[in-house]
Amino acid sequence: MDSKNFETEAIRTQIERSQFQEHTTPMYVTSSFVFDDAEDMRASFTEEKIKNIYSRYSNPNTSEFVEKVMKMEGAEDGYAFASGMAAIYSTFAALLSSGDHIVSARSIFGSTHTLFTKYFPKWNISTSYFDINNPDEIEALITPSTKILYAESPTNPGVDIIDLELLGAIAKKHNLLLIIDNCFATPYIQQPIKYGADLVVHSATKLMDGQGRVLGGVTVGKADLIREIYLFARNTGPSLAPFNAWTLSKSLETLAVRVDRHCENALKIAEVLENNEFISKVKYPFLKSHPQYEIAKKQMKLGGNIIAIEVKGGIEAGRKFLNSIKMCSLSANLGDTRTIVTHPASTTHSKLSEDEQLEVGITPGLVRISVGLENVNDVIEDITQALKS
Ligand SMILES: *Cc1c(COP(=O)(O)O)cnc(C)c1O
Repeated sequence: MDSKNFETEAIRTQIERSQFQEHTTPMYVTSSFVFDDAEDMRASFTEEKIKNIYSRYSNPNTSEFVEKVMKMEGAEDGYAFASGMAAIYSTFAALLSSGDHIVSARSIFGSTHTLFTKYFPKWNISTSYFDINNPDEIEALITPSTKILYAESPTNPGVDIIDLELLGAIAKKHNLLLIIDNCFATPYIQQPIKYGADLVVHSATKLMDGQGRVLGGVTVGKADLIREIYLFARNTGPSLAPFNAWTLSKSLETLAVRVDRHCENALKIAEVLENNEFISKVKYPFLKSHPQYEIAKKQMKLGGNIIAIEVKGGIEAGRKFLNSIKMCSLSANLGDTRTIVTHPASTTHSKLSEDEQLEVGITPGLVRISVGLENVNDVIEDITQALKS
């Protein structure tokens, strides 16, 4: 099929219709599939025939979801997982061996950080970290054992940006695999493969689902790497359930329009908050005041839906702000239709010392806003009244 524009592919990519000629893809809630005879079954197991065998390997609903993400990211192949963490864990576990080394940005998703620091050392896989705002230090961390260069952009919760083109060049020069967690941007805003990423990982739980319903994850990229990841996954079992895949494939049909509105709302809120007297700093990729504004403009179509603000008065002010919120949700998720506010210093990152928090970009008054799809004026009203009190 000749490739069409992003929105069209998101809607028109569809698995073959069944004998009932349904318009929209049905849910294939089945654990296994049947064969015509012994020869059909033999050929399917040796992969001479490409057929669904068992839903741990593949399922029509997961195939449709993966196909859409591949087209959106410009990838050769992909595999879907039960969650974003299942995708990240399986991707690294499939590709690394004992003795290998990872070079990663320090500000990455919390569970990914735990994977690198607590679990991978058990298998003699080590990680060195660079400051996302100082990419000049990356090359000095690379050793003969380094296999993977890893980063997220924008980051969570600091909304920092790293130059993907620069990472692509470093990875190429040192023959490393570049893996990017593209969860915050989504392929509608940014396509890391264009800049040299070998693999892109996603938590589909966030903006891809976009409605706070199901968990999911996906890895897409070079076919030979995906083959390794697929073989690891089909034997270890982190696969996406058909129901969740069906839900996520439907969600992708509206990704472009949802993300357009998320970003329009977020930019409006960021601009209003820049003039608020109770905030010392507003960080949003498409505000001129963002330290990496030029890079954001180069590699992102829109600014995303996450804003980081610094409430004056530190940790107590941050807690008080959360307690004064009337409409927005206090929740750990992000990328939902509902606007969500979180205060990392007193919640998700409260176990870290203040120095450790600062190392990953978390200041005492930092509040993260995941802007939703409510009328933007109602969100502004709620946030400004909470800041006032
Ligand atoms: C949420 C998130 C993950 C983990 O995804 P789950 O679906 O919750 O397992 C990974 N990376 C980023 C950037 C995330 O926001």
